[in-house]
Amino acid sequence: MNAVVYDRPRHFEVTEVPTPEPGPGEVRLRSSITGVCGTDLHIHEGGFFAAYPLTPGHEIVGVVDRLGPEVEDLQPGQRVAADNTVLCGRCDFCRRDQPLFCRNFYSLGVNGPGAFAEYVVVRAEKCFPVEDLPLDVAVMVEPTACAMHGMDVLNLRPGSDVLLFGAGPTGLVMAQLLVHGGAARMTVAAPTAFKLDLARSYGVDETVQVDRSDPPAAAARLKGMTEYGFDVVIDATGSAAVVEQCVSLTKDGGTVLVYGMSGEQDRVRFSPYEIFRRELTVKGSFAQTHCFDRSIAALRSGRVRTDGILTHRFGLTEFGSALEALRSDRSCLKPAIVPDGG
Ligand SMILES: [Zn+2]
Ligand SMILES: [Zn+2]
Repeated sequence: MNAVVYDRPRHFEVTEVPTPEPGPGEVRLRSSITGVCGTDLHIHEGGFFAAYPLTPGHEIVGVVDRLGPEVEDLQPGQRVAADNTVLCGRCDFCRRDQPLFCRNFYSLGVNGPGAFAEYVVVRAEKCFPVEDLPLDVAVMVEPTACAMHGMDVLNLRPGSDVLLFGAGPTGLVMAQLLVHGGAARMTVAAPTAFKLDLARSYGVDETVQVDRSDPPAAAARLKGMTEYGFDVVIDATGSAAVVEQCVSLTKDGGTVLVYGMSGEQDRVRFSPYEIFRRELTVKGSFAQTHCFDRSIAALRSGRVRTDGILTHRFGLTEFGSALEALRSDRSCLKPAIVPDGG
């Protein structure tokens, strides 16, 4: 089969590799569509916890192609979204019901073979049938599951005044979960007008277009929207400069949620006195486990909308163009790889 294969950071080719065989409890999927996201840009650079050689692609939607031994609940031909996380079940954190911190966390497309390939092998119990969802919705199951976990971590107090930086795919999904999850006012701040238009069409109350080159001006405008600050401020950009702003925009007793993935070497400056005196809470949310069923439920009912998010589709051999579009094409909100060309 053909697959994207990195032998080290920044060096990949689309090449012929052996088609994987499913082992006990596993199934092989023929990839239908695989989302490309900011995580893939970090992995391209060798970040996150990528392990090489690597076939990335963690937002997996495919058709069941072959069942491994002992698989009973799936049929060949079924279209599924596959949760890419594989947990050991026996480390201290798994045994404490904190599986996201699994010491042996195995994540297809990050440190195990993912779906920027014609075929991918996944755990059978991680497959969720999505035959009723269009492909451009199904490809949002994994990002929506991550936003769902972010909501679990945040534990939003109903009636909160919420500010979210970033109008990328996961920011747009999370903003909707916040709207429906009890925010009294939902504000999204981001630089790109068409993304803010989408946010408004999804029910966000306020949008603020911020000029990346002038962070103080943006902060001043946002400060002017409240008397004492926002109850909750969320970074969904992964920019350290934005995270730094989040602290000062948060109301006394409020919460900052670090949701975007920054670089591992990034640092922010804040005053510990401010955290202490204003009793601020800083939370982090990374990835997800066990959120796929709720993600699919929200997408299926239309409570979370994704129309307009998938802007670009590429074939497998165009993987480099997909990364480039995500990195520098301002008209690109989310690209996806369609291995068989659609
Ligand atoms: Zn992703
Ligand atoms: Zn574990």
